[in-house]
Amino acid sequence: MTQIEGSDLVAMSIEREGVKTVFGVPGGPIVEILGFASQKGIRPIGVRHEQAATFSAAAYGYVRNEVGVCVIAAGPAVTNCVTGAHVAFDNCMPLVILGGSGPQGGRYSGTFQETDNVPMFRGITKMSVQIDSAERIPYFMSMAFRKAKSGRPGPVYLDMPSDILSAMVEEEDVEWPEGYFTGAKPQADPEDVKRAAELLMNAERPAMIIGKGVRWADPGDQLKELAETLGMPFMTSPMGRGFVPDDHPLSMGAARSNIMRGADVVLVAGARLNWMFDFGKRFAPDAKIIHIDIEPEEIGANRATEVGLVGDAGAVLKQLLTEMEGKTEGIADRAEEGPWLSSLREKAESNGKSLEPLLNSDAKPIRTYRMMNEIQNVFPRDTIYTVDGQITLATGRQVLPSYTPASRLNAGTNGCIGVGIPFAVGAKIARPDVPVVSVNGDCAFGFNGMEMETAVRHNAPIVFIVNNNGGIVGGTMEAKMGLPEGYEERVARYTPDIRYDKIVEAFGGHAESVTDPDELRPALERAYQATLEGKVACVNVVTEPMELAVTADTRGSTIMGY
Ligand code: ADP
Repeated sequence: MTQIEGSDLVAMSIEREGVKTVFGVPGGPIVEILGFASQKGIRPIGVRHEQAATFSAAAYGYVRNEVGVCVIAAGPAVTNCVTGAHVAFDNCMPLVILGGSGPQGGRYSGTFQETDNVPMFRGITKMSVQIDSAERIPYFMSMAFRKAKSGRPGPVYLDMPSDILSAMVEEEDVEWPEGYFTGAKPQADPEDVKRAAELLMNAERPAMIIGKGVRWADPGDQLKELAETLGMPFMTSPMGRGFVPDDHPLSMGAARSNIMRGADVVLVAGARLNWMFDFGKRFAPDAKIIHIDIEPEEIGANRATEVGLVGDAGAVLKQLLTEMEGKTEGIADRAEEGPWLSSLREKAESNGKSLEPLLNSDAKPIRTYRMMNEIQNVFPRDTIYTVDGQITLATGRQVLPSYTPASRLNAGTNGCIGVGIPFAVGAKIARPDVPVVSVNGDCAFGFNGMEMETAVRHNAPIVFIVNNNGGIVGGTMEAKMGLPEGYEERVARYTPDIRYDKIVEAFGGHAESVTDPDELRPALERAYQATLEGKVACVNVVTEPMELAVTADTRGSTIMGY
């Protein structure tokens, strides 16, 4: 009779899911899970802080359209994952967090790192439960993966007591669930599809909003086809970019306010009308909203919806296109000649022009806009950008393009600063074939800067860029409020002239520091070349601390850079 250890059952379950990479910090009682996993060809990535494990795993899953997995020790290691669970929950990303805990047999006796983890994750996960026996590990694991990726994706927390992980069980006592997941792509009610198609075909000023929820449906072709069939302009949420390339002629992100105010029929796909879209209040009061979402509860939230199309974005878009077949002749041509598209194009062009002086500014300290412009000139179309920090997000949104699906990752729905570097690590490990560039404000960089060492150790040649404007939002608190007399300590302004690039040098990476705008492009090119040769690079760019204050027109909302 063969016996299997609980930790091995966890690793076997991960393997059965087809997961190739897990993220974690090795430590009791989960170190054996990582060991068994690597024996099975699953790659464990050892990060420097558990928060980063959750961020990297979530990004890895987002970039690959898979469930991210992290394996976490116990006690404080698990509490460090709360923010990551919140990020995954708020951004609807599938993530399985496997957290260790003290022995079930010793509950309430003060065992090492005993923590009541399960309630801690309720409210920020789709499910938070403790495994009750080693024999049932495969059952709990299948349930965790099913919940994480079914319907609206999200995080799941599984608590793993140490005595269950170390228990030996008879192989024949273990039941392996089969057929525990359906890959079905739910379709919308055909009557609703008909009504939505009618509205879209008869709209005078139609518009489409693409959100990051389309990631899980991968409907890039259908989104493009629908836009082109109707001559319908589109804009995206901050992470919804790239599913249709930013340089598509119907992409009107640069006329965001006009598109929202002017549209008479708005098709929202995989986005929520939450704070990011001003709760739908910026649309015209009589605009008709058609909302595609896999989660029925989302329809009608914050703003009255004319038609709710509940289903998978890919499946529903196909339904819409089928419904419109043979009925759309001339619509796109009329749109091309009509006032709606031309007014948006005019606005997008004039907005673009108004940025030009900033993009090409020779000012010193370097304007953040100039930095962004040089970045977008150097890196190729398939680059994945992670962007983090307030001014960095606000300027990056306007300047950095995205042309491929899931190639834009940022602070997301809960505006979590600190994601930029671990997101880049997860993204590069997910897709080693494409350049990954992580642009971070110096404040954002500070949260997880140590993860550059993870990148070096795990051969993830990323270009990390620090928008070094010397403090939080360039230290605007002190600039705005001043300091009480005699009070010398800086709160929002950091120690001057920090050379963040020296950190990567210490790890064995390639370092660049730039203060002159004309030096930017060659430095970025050298950094990019270093990554092509397998080195991690960091470029410290000393920029204008008062970027937003000295920029007259920042076009639209700058709350958290959106
Ligand atoms: P964004 O920040 O880009 O606006 P959100 O994260 O707020 O995006 O919203 C994404 C939405 O996408 C969620 O309401 C989620 O239920 C939905 N969603 C997730 N998967 C799918 C899918 N396969 N098809 C349609 N909608 C989806």
